Parts: sequence; C-alpha cells; structure tokens
Amino acid sequence: MDLDAFFCAVEELNNPSLKNKAFAVGGDPKTRGVVSSCSYAARQFSVHSAMPMAQALRLCPSLIVISTNHHRYSEYSKAVMSILENYSALIEKMSIDEAFMDVSDIQLMPGDIARTIQSEIKKKIGLPTSFGVSVNKLVAKIANDYGKKQHKGISYPEQITIVNPGMEKSFLAPLSVGSLWGVGEKTQQELKKIGIHTIGDLASYDQNLLVNRFGKHGVDLFKHANGLDERPVVTSHERKSLSQEVTFTKDIESEVILRKTMLRLCEKLGSHLRHEGLSAYTIKVKYRYKDFSTYTRQITLPEPTNHDMVLLDTGWNLFLKYWNKINAIRLIGIGVSNFSSHYQQLSLWDSFDKKEMQLFKIIDSLKDKYGKDIIIRASDLSDKLSSYDIEEEI
Ligand SMILES: [Mg+2]
Repeated sequence: MDLDAFFCAVEELNNPSLKNKAFAVGGDPKTRGVVSSCSYAARQFSVHSAMPMAQALRLCPSLIVISTNHHRYSEYSKAVMSILENYSALIEKMSIDEAFMDVSDIQLMPGDIARTIQSEIKKKIGLPTSFGVSVNKLVAKIANDYGKKQHKGISYPEQITIVNPGMEKSFLAPLSVGSLWGVGEKTQQELKKIGIHTIGDLASYDQNLLVNRFGKHGVDLFKHANGLDERPVVTSHERKSLSQEVTFTKDIESEVILRKTMLRLCEKLGSHLRHEGLSAYTIKVKYRYKDFSTYTRQITLPEPTNHDMVLLDTGWNLFLKYWNKINAIRLIGIGVSNFSSHYQQLSLWDSFDKKEMQLFKIIDSLKDKYGKDIIIRASDLSDKLSSYDIEEEI
C-alpha cells in the first residue's frame, strides 16, 4: 500500500480549493527548500520530489508552495495504518506513506482485498492509495511503482497492479535493472558495462559470473531478477532502521552548531526508539558537504542503546573522525539499525544511571502530551540554532 502524493493529498483534504491545481509541499524556495511532495498537476510541468523548490518554481511559475505540516501527516498516516491493521496483523511500515501487508491467510482474492481497503481508506479518511499485489515484497513494490507510472493525467493514480503467481519473472523482464531494489546508479553502470540493461538480461546472465563480479550481492541480484524474494513481512517492531536528518538553509562550519543539531536529532531518535521499546546496536552518521558529496559512516556497539547521550557521543565522535573541518556542512543526520527489542542497563553506559532513564520517560511523556517543543535541554536555550532555520527532509 502506498498513499498517492501523500502530503499533497492531506493538504487538499484540508483545503479543497487546491484540487487539480499545481502545488507542492516542501521548504521555502528562498532558503534552498526542497519539494517533499507535489500534486499530479505539478508533475505535468516535470516538477518532482527532492527537487529544489526554486527550480520547481522555474519549471512551473504558477506553482502554489505549501510548507510541510508533519504533525498533520503523521496523524493521517496513523489513521491509514490502523485501517490496514484491521485486515492483517502482519503490517510492515516502510515509511509514513508506505506499508507491506501479508494477507496470505485471508480467504479472499488479494486483488479484492486491495480494492476493499482502497475504498475504505478513501471513504473513511478521504485519501487516495495505490497497491501492488504479488507473492513477495520485491515484486509487489515494483508492481506498484510500475502501475503508478502508467497513470497519466492530473488525478491521483489510485492503481491496483496485480502480478499473478508464476508471472513474476515475465513481469520483471522488460523493466530496467534500476527498478530492482538495491540497484543504485553505481551498480546500474557496472551492469551496463557487461551488457545488462533490463531485469530480463540480468535474470538470464550466468549467476557465477555475477558472483565473481559482485560477491554476495550478485546472488541477490540474480534471485531478485528472477522474481524470487524470501524476505518476510516484518512488523514494525522488527523495523530495520530509523533515522533523522536535517538540511541547513546555509552551510554550517561551526562545530558548536553542528553538535547542537546532532543533539536535537539524537533526542528525537532516542525518544522514537524508547517509544517503540527498541534499542540499537548500529549507529550511522550521514553528512553532506556543500558540493553535495555525501558520506555515511557507521559503527556497531557491543551493547544496544536508546540513550540520547550515547547516540550523541557515538555519532558525534564518528562524525568528527571523518569530517575534514575545511568544508562546510549542508546536511547532517544520524540513524540506527540492528535492533534489540529489550533495553539492558549496560556496563558500558553505567554512568548513565537509572535516574536518567526515568528522566527520559518523563520527557517523552511530556512531549507526547504537549508536543515536541514543550521541553528542551537548558544547554539549547542559549544557542543560535533557531536563527538557522532548519529544513526537514523526507
Ligand atoms: Mg506515496
């Protein structure tokens, strides 16, 4: 299940006069904002998400720009997900607007299940959705992307694309290898060099040669190209990663501001982890220089954590180790993966005692009740961060 132009659809529900208009949700064009989501009317002008808002306005001068309203989107997302949960306990939320459902134990045709859920979401919440239906996640996701791309015009796609069992391989064959999961620009170039352009080319290539060239990834490439994917639908408790990042409205070289930004991100991340009863072994930092070169570095801890300060210490030290300090930073982010569902009080973090965990609990519940800005660290009060208007990236 994938919500169609989710942020835009929510904005349109709240302001019906936007219907059929070219509009985009995202950041301020004057401060290097980017398009988070754009209406299908805007897409007629080649506007797309992740594009700088200023560029979008050049392509479509009549574009209406709406600033993001995350709180509202997350409320709508919850409402949609809870409808899905009425149909299956096996829901894997991939993002705010996408989820996999395992419906193999429902005694109905999967296409009918999709149609029923699609119309229930439309009727009860008012949002348009599209579905990809298949025997596995890989093909369902590609089917949905494919179905949505076939849709032309300014209305929402509201597609249901079904790949019947046994048809996976022939469905995938004509598509570009770039539509496979895990095939980025770089792999795609590598594959091109050996004459592989379509998924079909890849499926009929010699598996051993792929392994020689791509290692273990070659096995997956071959399997996926043949429509095989054994990954189960895992519920959100078994979620694979969580992350937070910000793009600055001007490039930052101040260590103080960067560290405070990372603290803010770690507080959000820690609170999210504790909310889900999770802690993580692997911490990853991401940073982008002003020339757009982007790096990620990660480290795996001996014990899992969901502690803001452990996230900060680990992430910040990792960042400092690699940041060249010469080039200003455009984006900074921190993420975690490799989860453990129970948090142990660890020898390693003994200095962060029980009192601190109780404090987190209180802070988290205050934020839940009154919003995330209700309480901040005293050390943040004096900082100039607020004057650096930060752009959230989706
Ligand atoms: Mg979507």
